[in-house]
Amino acid sequence: MSVIQSLYVPESFQNNAHPCELFIYRGDLEHPQAPGNKWHKLKYHLLEAKRVNAQYIATFGGPFSNHLHAFSAILAETEFKGIAIVRGELHPTLTPTLIDVANAGIELWPCSRKDYRLAENSNMVAQINRLYPNVYWIPEGGGGQLGARGCQDWAADIDYLGDEYDAWVVSAGTGTTASGLLAYDNLPYLHVVSALKGAESQSDEILALAESLPQAHTTIDELKHKMTFHCDAHEGGYAKQSKALLAFLGAFAELNPKQLLDPVYTSKALFLVMQKIHRGEWPHRRTLFIHTGGLQGWRGYLPNVNPFIDSSVDGDK
Ligand SMILES: *Cc1c(COP(=O)(O)O)cnc(C)c1O
Repeated sequence: MSVIQSLYVPESFQNNAHPCELFIYRGDLEHPQAPGNKWHKLKYHLLEAKRVNAQYIATFGGPFSNHLHAFSAILAETEFKGIAIVRGELHPTLTPTLIDVANAGIELWPCSRKDYRLAENSNMVAQINRLYPNVYWIPEGGGGQLGARGCQDWAADIDYLGDEYDAWVVSAGTGTTASGLLAYDNLPYLHVVSALKGAESQSDEILALAESLPQAHTTIDELKHKMTFHCDAHEGGYAKQSKALLAFLGAFAELNPKQLLDPVYTSKALFLVMQKIHRGEWPHRRTLFIHTGGLQGWRGYLPNVNPFIDSSVDGDK
């Protein structure tokens, strides 16, 4: 099976006046336990943790976090011990995501939302630094320059495997992945679709991070011409689902039953592309959609809103 596949556009989204081809890079198939972008974002952080002789690696995430899930799977294969700061109180029964994280040997530290917002400046972080020797901290979602550099490398891998496209599409949370792809010299054009509500100003952060990467040979102005940032595709807010999104997902899953999308990121990004195709507002002939993984996130939803359920490989173990 190729990691780049064709996608079928549901009839209700087709536009005969503007034919275009859609392909998907199946990043979700890359790594069985840490699929999509998360492993790429962790790569340079792990090298840095090794360089500074860290014993522990600690990071942050919510109870259904794809980042924590990937972090725990990757760390289980290393010598490092892991600590996860979990947003909000731990419930009497852990989420399926946190059960996997705990089973991978990661210590869970519940954290109030207030402390969580302070991130590296919180009392909890100070306390952990006192209690544990040599802790290396990875920002939420595996972000920062090191996270983006891993995604810059990923762009080269994807480009090497693929054909010629006039645009790539990627979804964004922190925007770290988008920055890395944007800093890749041979990038065609990039559409970045935010999963967050109120992300208007994130575009500048993505550009600045991309420009700051060691091998980025471009200025912010040049990068601006290589990217469109979409912040109106959240469908009601982060991890929320609108009726229109569910209708799209149903139609999409029927035509593309093997191309599972995740509920938080890829489904919304692709929905935006399809709507633009339908309205004749998609200017590209050959588009590559980059699947960033996240399928384990469906475990935070009721089964009746998951149209892929029949074809899905159950993430629960
Ligand atoms: C984390 C995640 C993203 C967002 O990546 P950022 O680098 O934070 O922008 C996108 N898609 C999926 C499936 C994710 O899990």
